[in-house]
Amino acid sequence: MKYISTRGVCAPQTFADAVLTGLAPDGGLFVPESIPHFSEDEISSWRGWSYEELAFRIMSPYMTGDVSEQKLREIIAAAYSGFRHRAIAPLVQTGHNEWVLELFHGPTLAFKDFALQFLGHLLDHLLEEREQKVVVIGATSGDTGSAAIEGCRRCKNIDIFILHPHQRISEVQRRQMTTVVGSNIHNIAVEGNFDDCQNMVKASFGDQSFLPEGRQLVAVNSINWARIMAQIVYYFWAALSVGGPQRQVSFSVPTGNFGDIFAGYLAKTMGLPIERLIIGTNANDILHRCISGNDHSKKPLVHSLSPSMDIMVSSNFERLLFDLYGRDGDAIQELMETFNRTGKFELDSTALEDAKALFSSCRVDDEQTLATIRDEYAVSEYLLDPHSAIGLAAGRQCRTSAIDPMICLATAHPAKFPDAVRQAGYPNNPPLPQHMSDLFKRDESFDIQPNDLAAVQKFIAANISV
Ligand SMILES: *Cc1c(COP(=O)(O)O)cnc(C)c1O
Repeated sequence: MKYISTRGVCAPQTFADAVLTGLAPDGGLFVPESIPHFSEDEISSWRGWSYEELAFRIMSPYMTGDVSEQKLREIIAAAYSGFRHRAIAPLVQTGHNEWVLELFHGPTLAFKDFALQFLGHLLDHLLEEREQKVVVIGATSGDTGSAAIEGCRRCKNIDIFILHPHQRISEVQRRQMTTVVGSNIHNIAVEGNFDDCQNMVKASFGDQSFLPEGRQLVAVNSINWARIMAQIVYYFWAALSVGGPQRQVSFSVPTGNFGDIFAGYLAKTMGLPIERLIIGTNANDILHRCISGNDHSKKPLVHSLSPSMDIMVSSNFERLLFDLYGRDGDAIQELMETFNRTGKFELDSTALEDAKALFSSCRVDDEQTLATIRDEYAVSEYLLDPHSAIGLAAGRQCRTSAIDPMICLATAHPAKFPDAVRQAGYPNNPPLPQHMSDLFKRDESFDIQPNDLAAVQKFIAANISV
C-alpha cells in the first residue's frame, strides 16, 4: 500500500516512510492511496474473533509490502498484552440499546494506549530492519505523553523526550510519565506553559541540526497514520459485539484532534454499517460549529474539565476534508491557505452536505459534563471521566433511533481526572486500579529546564544513547 499527501504535492510513500515521517513534506497528512473494503458477508464471518485476530485482519491490508504477516501478528500480540481486561475493549450497557465502550484498560488508563502501544512496537520493528535509531520528542499537557512513554519504553531503537509544562499538569498525569524507569526515557519539565513546550517541539522538527549525525526525529502525535489505523479496530470490534454488521450501529466520540472519530469514518468506509458518527466537543467547539453551521473559524482556547479535548483546530480534520473534496489536493491546499491567512474557511455546499450525511455533532459544556457524571452515578453507580461523559451526553442528545445500538466511547478512566469527578459530587478521589495504587509512592525522575529552546536541545543532544 502506498501513501499520498492530502496536499497532493509530495510523491507517494511506503507505509514505513509515512509512519516514520509523520507530516508530509508538502505540509499535508498521509492517507492511504485507497481504502480497503470488506463485504458484509466477510465482516459477518469475523463474529466471535478475538480482538487480536480482528486487528490483524483489519490492519494488514494497510501494510502489505512493508510488514510481514508473521511480524504483524507478533506486534499486535505484544501491543495488547499489557491491557488489564481479557476483552481488551469491553462494552458496558448503560441504557436501552446504549453501551459504553471502555477504552481505558491499557497501561496509562486512556484510549491513546490502543494506538501508542501498537506504534511503539511497530516503530521498533521498522527501525530494527533499517538498522536505524531515532529520537521521539513530544509535548504534552496530559494523556499523550504518558501513553507515548509507555509505548516506547521497551524500544531499543528509540530515545524518547517528553516535554511538559513544569508544575502545570495534574499529579496523576505527571506521575504516569515520571515514574517510568528506562535509560531511553527522558521527562523534561519546562519552566513555561504548554504552548512553549509545543513551540519547542515544532522548532526542533523544523531544524534538526542539533541532533547527532544520522539521527532524525519521529512524531508520535495524533497525525501519525499508524495511530489512526490502530483505532479502526475497536469500531469493528464493538459493532460485531452488539449484532453488527446485520444491525447498524451509531458511535458517539468525545473529540479533540479528530483522530479517534476519523478512525470510525474509516471503519464505515471499509464496509462496516454505521448509521451515524457523533462528534462530541467541549467548549472548544470548532468541529461542532463547522458541521452544524459551516463555521470553521479559530477561537481562543478555553480550558475545560476535559483537557485532552482542549484544542483550537483539529489537526486530523484535513484528512476528512480531502475525501469530502474528492481527494483533490489543490482544493485542500487552497482551503488551508485561506485558513492560515484568515483563521477560517467555509466548506462548499456539496462537501458540507456530505459531512452532514455522515456526522452529527454536539457541544457539551463543563456544566453538562458534570451533570452527566452526577446523573450516571446516581442512576447506576457507573463513574465516568469527564471526556467519556461528553461522549455519552452527545450520544443521547444526537440520537435519532431507539432501535439501533448507540455505542459511546469512554476514553479515560475516572481516576485520571479526580478533580472533575469530585466537582461532580463524587465524595472521594476515584480509586486507581490495584496495579497502579502505589503510583503516589513511586520514585519520580524528571529534569527541569529553562524555557529556552537552545538549553532544551542541548539537554536532548547530551542524553541520546549511542
Ligand atoms: C486524546 C483524547 C481525546 C481526543 O481524541 P482525538 O483523537 O484527539 O479526537 C479524548 N479523550 C481523551 C481521554 C483523550 O486522551
